[in-house]
Amino acid sequence: MNRAFVNHAINEINADFQRSADTHLIRLTLPAFPGINIYLKDESTHPTGSLKHRLARSLFLYGLSNGWINEGTTIVESSSGSTAVSEAYFARLLGLPFIAVMPSCTAKRKIEQIAFYGGRCHFVESACEIYEASETLARELRGHYMDQFTYAERATDWRGNNNIAESIFRQMSHEPHPVPDYIVMSAGTGGTSATLGRYLRYQGHATKLMVVDPENSVFMNHWQQRDPTLKSQVGSRIEGIGRPRVEPSFIPDVIDEMMRVPDAASIATLGWLEGLLGRKVGASTGTNMWGVLQLAARMRAEGRRGAIVTLLCDSGERYLDTCYNPEWVAKQFGDISDWRKAIAELNA
Ligand SMILES: *Cc1c(COP(=O)(O)O)cnc(C)c1O
Repeated sequence: MNRAFVNHAINEINADFQRSADTHLIRLTLPAFPGINIYLKDESTHPTGSLKHRLARSLFLYGLSNGWINEGTTIVESSSGSTAVSEAYFARLLGLPFIAVMPSCTAKRKIEQIAFYGGRCHFVESACEIYEASETLARELRGHYMDQFTYAERATDWRGNNNIAESIFRQMSHEPHPVPDYIVMSAGTGGTSATLGRYLRYQGHATKLMVVDPENSVFMNHWQQRDPTLKSQVGSRIEGIGRPRVEPSFIPDVIDEMMRVPDAASIATLGWLEGLLGRKVGASTGTNMWGVLQLAARMRAEGRRGAIVTLLCDSGERYLDTCYNPEWVAKQFGDISDWRKAIAELNA
């Protein structure tokens, strides 16, 4: 046990945090929804480009404080996505080897991104093998398996300590409706929705937490039935969110409402949002924003005014050859023009 290394590592992470700025809270004004303000917490501006920057920082601090990570510890994670990219960044900051375990079919762009931050990739045949392979690899290397799907909900300090919920409420403080009616979020690990839901209760805010779920995800069924053995044969097509099994970090009891969002609706929402923001956002932000539009329409029908907050999880740059490629979209989702029309009608 090298306490000097742990002290140094925690100081490095905190220094990195001090050099970083908070992420913006963008306000949208939609003419079709008078008196209803919509806000996007822009997590794409973190150094590694997504909300997983927060998770990676928390998982490293948790692992270091628990004595699980020390000098020379190889960090292993089962992820081919944003989590691996952000963890590779922090591993390099601390001078630790990082290995991402992923299916061999993973897109080249992602492998390159992990390699850009000095991470290595370990390939397995199919997606269902990554968990066991990560455990085995970590054991063999006497490394540490980060296990985002188990530890995301507990690595983040839900009471405050500058977590995403506290930051949102601080940034909302001068707005016409500083306490939003709803916060809308999707779930991948479920860690962010757990932090938001716990914070709302701890602070006694009236805000309701709505979690939106894509097709082929078991989270919404689990929320309704509380059956942790639920499985889906098909994976989610919206990157970063929706899971084929109930992940330990998904905490259904702090969620007030869930909504199923058709994948084609998520994709159609991206184009509309690009017109409003002047830039492209990732697919899960489309899912979030579809949920926001449904709630805004509900509030409008009930004659209510207020605020709705959601997350802009990452930028669209990572999705240029998928969600922003009309051929790929047509092949995956068919004709999405009816969903485009539905969005236009909501905003008419
Ligand atoms: C991980 C992720 C989410 C979901 O966040 P969790 O806290 O893991 O539930 C949403 N969008 C993107 C792009 C993500 O990478």
